[in-house]
Amino acid sequence: MTSPLPPWLARQDVEAIAFEERAAEQLTAAARRELVAVTRRVTAEYVRRAGGVDQLLPADQVPAFRAVLVAALAGLSIRVGDRLARIAAAGLALGLRHAAAVLGNIRLRLRPSPALRDVVAAVNERAAADLAAAVRAARTADLERHSDVMAAVGRANQAVHRVDATTRWVANRAVNEGIAAAADDAVAARLWVAERDACLTCLAYAGMVVGAGELFPAGQTFGDTSAVVGALAGPPAHPRCRCRLSPWLSARESADGVNLPDVLRREAQRTVLRGWSAHASEPARLRAADRVLRSHLLVPRSVADRARRAVAAGTFDT
Ligand SMILES: [Zn+2]
Repeated sequence: MTSPLPPWLARQDVEAIAFEERAAEQLTAAARRELVAVTRRVTAEYVRRAGGVDQLLPADQVPAFRAVLVAALAGLSIRVGDRLARIAAAGLALGLRHAAAVLGNIRLRLRPSPALRDVVAAVNERAAADLAAAVRAARTADLERHSDVMAAVGRANQAVHRVDATTRWVANRAVNEGIAAAADDAVAARLWVAERDACLTCLAYAGMVVGAGELFPAGQTFGDTSAVVGALAGPPAHPRCRCRLSPWLSARESADGVNLPDVLRREAQRTVLRGWSAHASEPARLRAADRVLRSHLLVPRSVADRARRAVAAGTFDT
């Protein structure tokens, strides 16, 4: 699949994804290493007391082993608030730079929005709560088998998963806040750019344009229910959303003369009609294709015909 985006926008997309990936790696690397160390330590202890990972832990060994496991989990800590605040600041700066590619020189000093600051401020506390829940679970868990031990360590891993998802959200939210602020400041419209294989909600926003300071409407989707419950200034529309904003002047004013909103809407229709959208079952994707087929079609007839056959057959695998 080649990108339907103009090269400058495709480059920005790559840059923003790299920024997100780096941020997530930076903020979770230490915790992942600690978890690997804990896994090794408690597994060694289990083997010492049970005789092997495939052996049951004798009942009289459980209390002492549990003490070791609980102590190991209680020793974990994730404190990434300061670094996440720096990610937010760097994301805003990246967003301003991306907007400048369209709008020219931008002189803005930005602070993260309250929504962004709230998430950053809460990250340490939420991680601590996740880790505390893992410790509580380990105090009462069955510890008869090594798989029980791995499940207990896995609970702690949920804290890392949440930090990972939070970091990615903050990174993308900050980039988009930067772009939105720059567009508003220049009294330029904002264009929603979805991922090629975005979810059925985000594809419905692809190519949508709102004026300076305006919000994108809630409730749009090609699917059965929209992930967007309130009007919003821009992506992310949901956790792990990688949609972007771009300032939008007009096809006439844009450097390459491309009518990008039309291109993006057409590509979104194509994604739905081909069944490529992510995070939806095949029946849901077929219902979405059916909805698009009943709307004003922007795709070539061959794409629509193929989708009609898929809907009629009840599968995209024809
Ligand atoms: Zn999205």
